[in-house]
Amino acid sequence: MSREDYEVVIGLEVHAELSTKTKIFCSCPTEFGGEPNTHCCPICMAMPGTLPVLNEKVVEYAVKAGLATNCEISRDSKNDRKNYFYPDLPKAYQISQYDKPLCEHGYVEIEKENGEKKKIGLTRIHIEEDAGKLNHDEYAGGSLVDLNRAGVPLIEIVSEPDMRSSEEAEKYLRKIKSILEYIEVSDCKMQEGSLRADVNVSVRKKGDTKLGTRTEMKNMNSFRAIVRGIEYEIRRQIDLIEDGGKIEQETLRWDDVSGKTFSMRDKEDAQDYRYFPEPDLVAIRLSEEYIENIKNSLPELPETRKIRYIEQYHLTEREANLLTASKYLSDLFEKAEKISNNPKAVCNWILSDISRILNEKEMEAEQIPFTGEQLAELVQLIDKGTISSAIAKKVLEELFENPKSPEEIIKEKGWIQISDEGAIKEIVQKVLEANPQSVADYKAGKDKALGFLVGQAMKETKGKANPQMLNKMFVEAMNS
Ligand code: ADP
Ligand code: ZN
Ligand code: MG
Repeated sequence: MSREDYEVVIGLEVHAELSTKTKIFCSCPTEFGGEPNTHCCPICMAMPGTLPVLNEKVVEYAVKAGLATNCEISRDSKNDRKNYFYPDLPKAYQISQYDKPLCEHGYVEIEKENGEKKKIGLTRIHIEEDAGKLNHDEYAGGSLVDLNRAGVPLIEIVSEPDMRSSEEAEKYLRKIKSILEYIEVSDCKMQEGSLRADVNVSVRKKGDTKLGTRTEMKNMNSFRAIVRGIEYEIRRQIDLIEDGGKIEQETLRWDDVSGKTFSMRDKEDAQDYRYFPEPDLVAIRLSEEYIENIKNSLPELPETRKIRYIEQYHLTEREANLLTASKYLSDLFEKAEKISNNPKAVCNWILSDISRILNEKEMEAEQIPFTGEQLAELVQLIDKGTISSAIAKKVLEELFENPKSPEEIIKEKGWIQISDEGAIKEIVQKVLEANPQSVADYKAGKDKALGFLVGQAMKETKGKANPQMLNKMFVEAMNS
């Protein structure tokens, strides 16, 4: 049997660090980085005798996330202790939620490359605290713990095993990221670990109703790694089954350099977390009014924004989809559109050249170094005829390298378009004299020759001549 005879099943557990100002059970800052152990206090360092107090914002943010993903919000909920020992967890237990999570039974809709739409179920969203971080390599002879991250609030979003390909898993995670960005509960910076996913993968023969045994790749924090990891696991699991082997339920580590997964622990040493209700915190009870207020305060979500773009800017559904998929991109679009008054051109720049460069550089939208104002200026310079679109492409490359005002860039580089009639005439004359054969061709009815001549003039001026003026003057000169 081959890969086509198998069905792939994927479920994701997504962890998102919430962008509250303070930690979940104390008033230490949640800010990323900082000198090790400078963002902590006796509570998040787990000194004996300290007591946690739940940060109300954490509940609010989690409820927001639940409402934005079509979940039911639990009126009664509580925190539980999840016991395990690891040196980055000074209490030796994590305060999480077990059988009464804040949100349950939601879904998000993804749109696939072929246009097909699909709902992916959310089992639950619960709140918990992040652990600290071990630094293994910096000090010879051991590891040192940094507790700045200990107690940073997290939501864990658990999906149903509804995804059937790496494409669906990627689209799902992008959708979750986009929603969390729109409702501004997490900065979702994957490179800083603010958004990371445990990826569960299994395969089964097509037609089987029972799920296959899954493996779980822990803490994946780039889309590329997730897609590669899933593809690797599918291949490995099918090969193993085809060779008569059995999939073991285990936790894996994906290694991006070798492009392989490695076993971290198997079912034998699976943890018994001995969950029990957290005795140091009161239960959480939410009123209808509280939930209603949060519902009413939800900002525009990607779906609504998409519909607005189609109506307000007359973009195609595909364009609106691509722009609104990332809050960052669509905010950039709106800023640049307002200033330049040219939504179509701004949309084109974002979806063609800017997206291409992001792809080439393997960057995410939020890493774009220039501003909406600068993009607007670029579009205006083309609209005013100050630069050609060929030069504009060079300005854009420059904006990625060294972002500043496009006007300044073209002055510095001497890229201003030549629109002076006398100057253009001179170039036209020069090119005509150098290419008598093309002139003869044109006069004999070969229109292609005109394009060649304009091209030569562009070469001569390093792309700076105004193309419309060139065209007009060549035609005039050869027809007189
Ligand atoms: P945990 O990993 O903490 O034990 P669960 O058993 O609830 O938690 O499963 C976690 C994730 O694994 C969920 O996202 C779920 O959809 C997914 N999952 C469960 N069974 C399978 C399976 N057979 N194949 C793929 N994914 C699965
Ligand atoms: Zn603290
Ligand atoms: Mg898991």
